[in-house]
Amino acid sequence: MRLNSTNQEGRRSFLKGASALGAGLWAGEDLDAYPQNTTTNSTPSGLRITDLRVATVARAPMTCPIIRIDTNQGIYGLGEVRDGASKTYALMLKSRILGENPCNIEKIFRKIKQFGSHSRQAGGVCAVEMALWDLAGKAYNVPVCQMLGGRFRDRIRIYADTTESRDPKVFGERLKARHDQGFTWLKMDLGVEMVADTPGAVTRPAGASFAYNDPAQGMFTGIEITEKGIAMLADYVAQVREVVGMEVPLSADHFGHIGVNSSIRLGKALTKYNLAWLEDMIPWQNTELLKKISDAVDIPILTGEDIYLKEPFMELCRTHAVDIIQPDLATAGGILETKKIGDGAQEFGVPMVLHFAGTPVACMASVHCAAATGNFLVMENHSIDVPWWGDLVEGVDKPIVNQGFITVPDKPGLGVALNDEVVKQHLAEPGFFEPTPQWNVDRSSDRQWS
Ligand SMILES: [Mg+2]
Repeated sequence: MRLNSTNQEGRRSFLKGASALGAGLWAGEDLDAYPQNTTTNSTPSGLRITDLRVATVARAPMTCPIIRIDTNQGIYGLGEVRDGASKTYALMLKSRILGENPCNIEKIFRKIKQFGSHSRQAGGVCAVEMALWDLAGKAYNVPVCQMLGGRFRDRIRIYADTTESRDPKVFGERLKARHDQGFTWLKMDLGVEMVADTPGAVTRPAGASFAYNDPAQGMFTGIEITEKGIAMLADYVAQVREVVGMEVPLSADHFGHIGVNSSIRLGKALTKYNLAWLEDMIPWQNTELLKKISDAVDIPILTGEDIYLKEPFMELCRTHAVDIIQPDLATAGGILETKKIGDGAQEFGVPMVLHFAGTPVACMASVHCAAATGNFLVMENHSIDVPWWGDLVEGVDKPIVNQGFITVPDKPGLGVALNDEVVKQHLAEPGFFEPTPQWNVDRSSDRQWS
């Protein structure tokens, strides 16, 4: 809380909250006797990390380990390991951060970032980074987005994932219901497997798999979609567009494992439906092949949910291999790295969408980043149909996703506290922030240079 005796509004709001400062202060006292930037919670310069503990939530709808970083001053920070990732990615960092001042976020991030990698392997580094921002915000009594430079917007536009149906009319009605709920951006899955059992729709080597857990990436499956298959998928989109109209942005994802040429022919056939983006048509590592698709197709091409750190994003943006990037903050490197990614992309004229599939903890980390990043477009939410999702936390406006938007919190840090009872009802395994002394020490030389 900033005290300023020349600012009457500040003085009044200070007096209103004065009881929180404890004994010895009441309305008659001279406020100028109190130091500037006093916090009710902490002495930031003396703050130290004392513990890192985990509680893993299930069916949110994903499995999400929430971490809590404790300190010597009674305040704690919340973070979240990327959906589906192991809590071990966070716990192995405990020995590297004990005793550090959590307000030194960049210093700690640079120390631990070598322990992250693409997709879920970044989960620990990003969880810790989120928790450090939460702690620094609580220590200095400032919301995270303010520490990032302030807001470009007060509410964050959300698109919701929607249960698939092979029947385009049924699916169109589900999307229309989302629109009626207030969502101003829609997304559909449009996989080649939707037509694969129709004779003549797909050419593939016997046994080749569309499954995402198949180790063979799209270009290496030998699967190509036929003119008939493309016409079926285009007709599906046409029928969905008939229900939802042409005005609302409509994105498409989960094309399945198809090759570059199939991606281009399918993309061209979808042009007239003016889709907002085509997502992850081939794996993100293939910059030149993505550029080949982007150059040939007049619909924005997008990737990014599995990319760790800024550099690969900048390669995609500098070469214009994609039209839009989509980092997941719990994979990309956390709050500040994702803002840097957005700012870097903006210099190349590339907008940023945020991928997200977790609990309200990582959601709010993403919301603060989205508020503070100029080229942000829209953010994902997988949990609209999970009735208890918002109950996991307290301290923010409910419902968290309201009429298709999330209000950026004003409270210090991420702005949320856990509702312990609700979290305990949805644990993936026994253990609610149990002690983790076995992770206090790890004998290892971590230096990456000589
Ligand atoms: Mg996706």
